[in-house]
Amino acid sequence: MLVGVPKEIKVHEYRVGLTPEAVREFVAAGNQVIVETGAGAGINTTDAVYKEAGATIVPTADEVFAKAEMIVKVKEPQPSEWVKLRENQILFTYLHLAPDPEQAKGLLASGVTAIAYETVLGPDGTSLPLLAPMSEVAGRLAIEAAGSALQRHSGGRGMLLGGVPGVLPAKVMVLGGGVVGTHAARMAAGLGADVIILDRSLPRLRQLDELFQGRAKTRFASSMAIEEEVRAADVIIGAVLVPGASAPRLVTEAMLKTMKPGAVLVDVAIDQGGCFETSHATTHAAPTYVVDGIVHYCVANMPGAVPYTSSHALNNATLPYGLALAAGGIKGIAGHPGLLSGLNVHRGQLTHPAVAASLKLDL
Ligand code: NAD
Repeated sequence: MLVGVPKEIKVHEYRVGLTPEAVREFVAAGNQVIVETGAGAGINTTDAVYKEAGATIVPTADEVFAKAEMIVKVKEPQPSEWVKLRENQILFTYLHLAPDPEQAKGLLASGVTAIAYETVLGPDGTSLPLLAPMSEVAGRLAIEAAGSALQRHSGGRGMLLGGVPGVLPAKVMVLGGGVVGTHAARMAAGLGADVIILDRSLPRLRQLDELFQGRAKTRFASSMAIEEEVRAADVIIGAVLVPGASAPRLVTEAMLKTMKPGAVLVDVAIDQGGCFETSHATTHAAPTYVVDGIVHYCVANMPGAVPYTSSHALNNATLPYGLALAAGGIKGIAGHPGLLSGLNVHRGQLTHPAVAASLKLDL
């Protein structure tokens, strides 16, 4: 199959659909890969490296879209890209179509067959393997963000996460012990912080207890426990998810007044509305703001700050699905349960029931 990788054009998007490592795997499997010149610039990768991996470099996005049988991207196509997509072409990317009717119209009009990373299911039929790598990145980055926000000039308490010999470390409370929460807790514990993870799932708390072997404490996330831990925390990482719903507002504005001045809230769940009452989405350009003396970090696209790590992590997860798509083409999707769950749009039809229901459009 002829696979095409255009340069991402969404504002401040520096990731790339295929890394050179992935290109080599596609080529080894008998595919041809064309890459738009400069597509890897955001991850410090030159055209020469892509060529060495077996890609052909083409000068324009127009050429990629016109020639490729499958387009591999990171972000949803922008309006100027909708018109370049066509029938009998596969689009493999993050789409987040449910809240985006204009995007849905653009894709339906193009006739393209679109597989959305975020709805591809793993072999267990429930996990979301192409979302997990970005949660891993965001969880780890949350602690780096917290460490920086804790510094005095950022409005923070002016303390080191891990302390030093003779000085206590920061107390880090992780609210939600899923993928984001686990990776945040690992980073914080690794730095020597005093970590506690709260979750409402007892089986998950048992797994975490086993995993951390005492390097992080666990506590059931009752409202009383949350209130107590909020008062004690120097840093709170918001990492809860109720699939398909807005994040529950677990830390209220009233609770902020009980917190230590200069404490830091990192609301990773901001892409689902946020789990702190005082959260509103921020950008990498101005990531923090202060409410009642509490520093808030609420960047909605955290992995975008580290496009090198994010692109490679994403490719590690997408590769087997991309290779299966390239091998089987559009006809092969029906026989692959993971890809079938990822199918959102096919030849002018919405094909994902939940996405169609959110958009209030007929299948
Ligand atoms: P996950 O499903 O792996 O984990 C969520 C955890 O929250 C689960 O363990 C669940 O039991 C727990 N939970 C649910 N309700 C709770 C409650 N009331 N109290 C305590 N715990 C509760 O999800 P994830 O992959 O870790 O993602 C977490 C959030 O981070 C999601 O909203 C996701 O979209 C978001 N995210 C944001 C970014 C970003 O850039 N801001 C990047 C990646 C992920």
